[in-house]
Amino acid sequence: MNMTHVFDEILKHNEAFVANKEYIPYQTDSNPNKKLAILTCMDSRLTELLPAALGIKNGDAKIIKNAGGMITSPVGSTIRSLVVSIYAFDIKQVMIIGHDHCGMSNVDNSPLIETMKERGITKEAFETFDSDDFDTARWLEGFANVEESVAKTVASVVNHPLIAKDVEVRGFVINPSTGELRPVC
Ligand SMILES: [Zn+2]
Repeated sequence: MNMTHVFDEILKHNEAFVANKEYIPYQTDSNPNKKLAILTCMDSRLTELLPAALGIKNGDAKIIKNAGGMITSPVGSTIRSLVVSIYAFDIKQVMIIGHDHCGMSNVDNSPLIETMKERGITKEAFETFDSDDFDTARWLEGFANVEESVAKTVASVVNHPLIAKDVEVRGFVINPSTGELRPVC
């Protein structure tokens, strides 16, 4: 299936979805009912499984996703999303949820960099953002151990100067096949 077909298929589905008022069961307001934010991985196995396994319905939680469910910068968009969630939407609890067999659980990023080069990303492009404080190749690195990564992310949130001390932050790992959730910290 090429990309155009995916877009067309989605637009066709969307037209019927709206026309048939299939949105009605999902209607809610923007204030999360459970006063909960979840930071997790963008893995496509978790799209429906994670909310279903946690009993999270539309309107219950702010769900923030990125590659690996990590915080890679104290001023990046992930921590920004958490700050906005906490202060604009009265979030009191934050769950950091990593998962087994994560695509980012491979510290060696050389296959990814090779693929980028094959797709036309030049050496100069790789060097565009490189500085004393920033290494583009390191920025793309994952982690060796999911529990350690989750614990590190929890610490990044707890110790962040812009996160209020009354916010409870816990870390978990989810199994992407069964949805089983293991507390980490
Ligand atoms: Zn993942």
